[in-house]
Amino acid sequence: MAVPKKKTSKSRRNMRRSHHALSTHSYAECANCGELKRPHHVCGACGHYDQREVVKTSAA
Ligand SMILES: [Zn+2]
Repeated sequence: MAVPKKKTSKSRRNMRRSHHALSTHSYAECANCGELKRPHHVCGACGHYDQREVVKTSAA
């Protein structure tokens, strides 16, 4: 089995992890109910997409 010759330093390990941060998702307002939803996703509050109901919700 291949074994690293040298221990990875804290500096090098942290430099590698500098790309691991999560970014925040963008949000858009639902055209039907005004709730914030993710773009190109069905609205979680009213089940609408492209101004038409695609998922039946208990509330609506
Ligand atoms: Zn909605």
